Amino acid sequence: MSKLKVLITREELAAKVKELGQRISKDYEGKELLLVGVLKGGFMFLADLVREITIDVNIDFISCSSYGNSTVSSGIVRILKDIDYDITGKHVLLVEDLIDTGLTLTYLKDLFMAKHCASVKICTILDKPSRRKVDLQVDYQGIIIPDKFVVGYGLDYAEKYRNLPEVYVVEEI
Ligand code: 5GP
Ligand code: MG
Ligand code: MG
Repeated sequence: MSKLKVLITREELAAKVKELGQRISKDYEGKELLLVGVLKGGFMFLADLVREITIDVNIDFISCSSYGNSTVSSGIVRILKDIDYDITGKHVLLVEDLIDTGLTLTYLKDLFMAKHCASVKICTILDKPSRRKVDLQVDYQGIIIPDKFVVGYGLDYAEKYRNLPEVYVVEEI
């Protein structure tokens, strides 16, 4: 059995999303911005974030999975669904639910850089910097959380709990 304990409320999430949306709108003013949501976990954050962005944007999604154990990132990333756009010359912003080891986004950033876009930056709503295995620049860092397994706001545990509007810590009982 597992029990869920609230770690971050909807109000805290909404305030941070608004702040990030405002920063992004300012920084990318006059530029062609493509937001790439990292599925599945990034879907809820991306949906909220775009409603706080006041400049024109394009939206796309990429879906990837790490090989091996599903709760531990191996760094070997398999693309399950690639983006639909030609991104040559575009400013790409990768939108992620949570950065843990940093291995997934390091791989994705390198992949996008090789496609000759104008720039590739990273935005995440949650970050566990204490777990980092690689040096990764997080351009838009949301809320820093401790080294605990979390669910909700897009994040799952065995594909459950993605729909919860808050972020919870899973406690085994
Ligand atoms: P990384 O490659 O940075 O280690 O993490 C890749 C992905 O693993 C994250 O974007 C997230 O989708 C998933 N992940 C990492 N930590 C957690 C966690 O605490 N809970 C859940 N549900 N997923 C996590
Ligand atoms: Mg993710
Ligand atoms: Mg998952």
